[in-house]
Amino acid sequence: MRLAVIYTGKYKSHITGIHIEVPQRLDAAISGLQDSPLWGKVPVIPPRPATREELELVHTPEMIDFVEETSLSGGGVLDVGDTVASSESYEVACLAAGGAIKGIELIKSGEYDAVAVLCRPPGHHATPSRSMGFCIFNNAAIAAKFALNNGYEKIGIIDWDVHHGNGTQDVFYDEPRVLYASTHRYPFFPGTGRLEEIGEGPGAGYNVNVPLPAGCGNAEYMAVYKDVIMPVMKRFKPDLLIVSAGFDNHRDDPLGGMNLDDRAFAEIASMLCELNAPILMTLEGGYDMHSLYLSIPLVLAAWADDGKIQRRYYGVPSGPVRDVIEKARMIHRLD
Ligand SMILES: [Zn+2]
Repeated sequence: MRLAVIYTGKYKSHITGIHIEVPQRLDAAISGLQDSPLWGKVPVIPPRPATREELELVHTPEMIDFVEETSLSGGGVLDVGDTVASSESYEVACLAAGGAIKGIELIKSGEYDAVAVLCRPPGHHATPSRSMGFCIFNNAAIAAKFALNNGYEKIGIIDWDVHHGNGTQDVFYDEPRVLYASTHRYPFFPGTGRLEEIGEGPGAGYNVNVPLPAGCGNAEYMAVYKDVIMPVMKRFKPDLLIVSAGFDNHRDDPLGGMNLDDRAFAEIASMLCELNAPILMTLEGGYDMHSLYLSIPLVLAAWADDGKIQRRYYGVPSGPVRDVIEKARMIHRLD
């Protein structure tokens, strides 16, 4: 796939203070790229800011005003303690959402088949009316809405962050043109993401949650992607894929409590190439610097190489995860 990265150093101007979602995460990601064979071959393109109208594709005017006012008044708390804005956060959050939109524009133009937006703040917890969970605006959801308005008809969103993307689920819960599929630790922040949350109205069946116990590793994730996520996506036949890529399920992450190694992310990424759809990736969580440094370039290399990665044999997933897979296949009629 023809691959591009969207990035600006401005993404580091969202200052969170004593926090794990810090600007150094992007230094780690960019250093990883610089030290990989991709560097020099893959263009790094600056984002553009999302317009007010584009933010309103997902968010309420009141919520956008609150972020802007908090930021312009010098910063403050956006949501109970863990989600903060500094004086430049509104501008940076507009560039994060706008980076995801620019990715869609680049894909739509036919220049690139895979675009990775290495941005902060992350987005998948932000609901239409509330910033939360370190997320200000929902970058992936805004990009998906923008894509629907620009000729794409069926969008698959794959969210492999260790947390459930409650915000993205909310936005598309009754939308049959967007299939949201998430693997996440459960029960865990933010509390949503049960198997039974399958969408509603015309969107019923287009929301796929695979809640996983803590401690899942390569064998569990590969089985879930092979037996649940890929089959539902293949049936849906998306013309665009958006990946909410979190790396907080890496075994060295201080927060996630999962057990993936660096290469597992690339193997999941490579499976997605079987869907023959262009891919937009937006960065969500991931708080261990060395894991970001190693894993992100491997994911991008998998896409640049059309998914031709040597897969490893992981053996059988643990019993509780086999049960979850069986239930998910039943709920989503995969048999
Ligand atoms: Zn996360």
